Amino acid sequence: MQRFFLNQPIEDPQSIVIKDKDIIKKITKVLRKQIGDTIFIFDSANEEFEVQIIHMAEKEIVCRLVNRVEIDRELPIEINLYQALLKKDKLEWICQKVTEIGIKSITPIISENCVVKDLNSNKAKRYQKIIEEATAQSGGKIPTAFYKIKNFEEVILGLKQNELNLIAHEDERQNKLFDILNEKRVNKINILIGPEGGFSQDEINLALRNSVVPVSLGKRILRAETAAILASGLIALSH
Ligand code: SAM
Repeated sequence: MQRFFLNQPIEDPQSIVIKDKDIIKKITKVLRKQIGDTIFIFDSANEEFEVQIIHMAEKEIVCRLVNRVEIDRELPIEINLYQALLKKDKLEWICQKVTEIGIKSITPIISENCVVKDLNSNKAKRYQKIIEEATAQSGGKIPTAFYKIKNFEEVILGLKQNELNLIAHEDERQNKLFDILNEKRVNKINILIGPEGGFSQDEINLALRNSVVPVSLGKRILRAETAAILASGLIALSH
């Protein structure tokens, strides 16, 4: 099933104009779609449509509505991931995987032990594209939000006390994520995952002073990207 995210609300379902060059290339060159073929489109108003191609040109493809798609594959719980910046393309990989899982948002953060200290706009744009493609592939309607970078302290001080705020910490021995999820029935969870060098003890102490709950993901030391996927998946499946 070919699904495409149009980052614009669809005004006239009888004349849906696609101008995104990547989507046009995929429809014409990769999928070799013809006039009369159908595809699925979801838009920034969280609507999804089955549409039929009625016109194809180099710079635009026009479709008309066949029917509205009512399938809802969104999670019943809102998960917000606060991910410390990582080296190479690990954050790109995390964006794709946690979007497939259906989390609500990713906020890149800078913590003391981050080797990478900034995120340029080209990378942010690439992550946005990966998120849109992963949403389309996984059947989601609402692309995961990718927010501006924040520093660790700003995140901790900005967390709401009435939400379940977790920090994944490999030295935590009491609180297992699995048990916390069984104890607390909530509909919104914020979770922080550290960088390759982990969170500093000062950062863990600041989190504790602000009622952020340290959680263990087991006795093994996971790579940050493994921890992000495991935590997101466990939370998603706990509801
Ligand atoms: N300080 C670690 C070490 O000794 O190698 C490295 C940190 S680990 C590579 C990166 C992040 O993944 C950590 O900051 C933590 O958020 C998360 N993490 C890894 N293993 C974990 C575990 N068993 N329980 C909870 N969080 C874990």
